[in-house]
Amino acid sequence: DWINFTSLFNRVIDRFDLSKSQNVSFKRLLIEEAVFVEIDQDKITQVLDNIISNALKYSPEGGQVTFTTSYKDEFLLISVKDEGMGIPRDKVEKIFERFYRVDKARTRQLGGTGLGLAIAREMVEAHGGRIWAESEEGKGTTIYFTLPYDPAQEDEWT
Ligand code: ATP
Ligand code: MG
Repeated sequence: DWINFTSLFNRVIDRFDLSKSQNVSFKRLLIEEAVFVEIDQDKITQVLDNIISNALKYSPEGGQVTFTTSYKDEFLLISVKDEGMGIPRDKVEKIFERFYRVDKARTRQLGGTGLGLAIAREMVEAHGGRIWAESEEGKGTTIYFTLPYDPAQEDEWT
């Protein structure tokens, strides 16, 4: 279906904003206008849910989570950045593997199966996009993903 990603993303962020128990602030740097992408709304919602719940799970007290959308070539680029403990450089690519968890002792208390990002990668790639992470230990992590976007299609809506 053709989905307005701006309002979908805002709705998902609102839901986390209302239900989060941590003292973490949200900052939205989103494209303001409607951006239509052809996606499976439930699947991309699941991708966003996982990325945002990870960002919250690994955020420190008083941390900030920043959400962005921007146009990048023929894609819409989405990012979720946190100020958490980060991921060691040699482990960053591994977090997308099934059942992989960076620190077993640490993640045991935080819960989870280690499947979230593997599923997210599968779903993003099934949409023709890519997903990756950039992280600096002690500073934070940013998860990026892209979705194919056709500006010509946009003109047909207006
Ligand atoms: P699930 O999502 O299945 O509940 P999970 O969150 O542990 O479990 P993934 O979402 O696949 O699994 O993430 C895999 C691992 O990557 C996590 O266990 C954690 O070690 C690391 N990770 C993911 N996101 C972050 C983040 N924002 N900051 C630090 N580490 C992260
Ligand atoms: Mg997860």
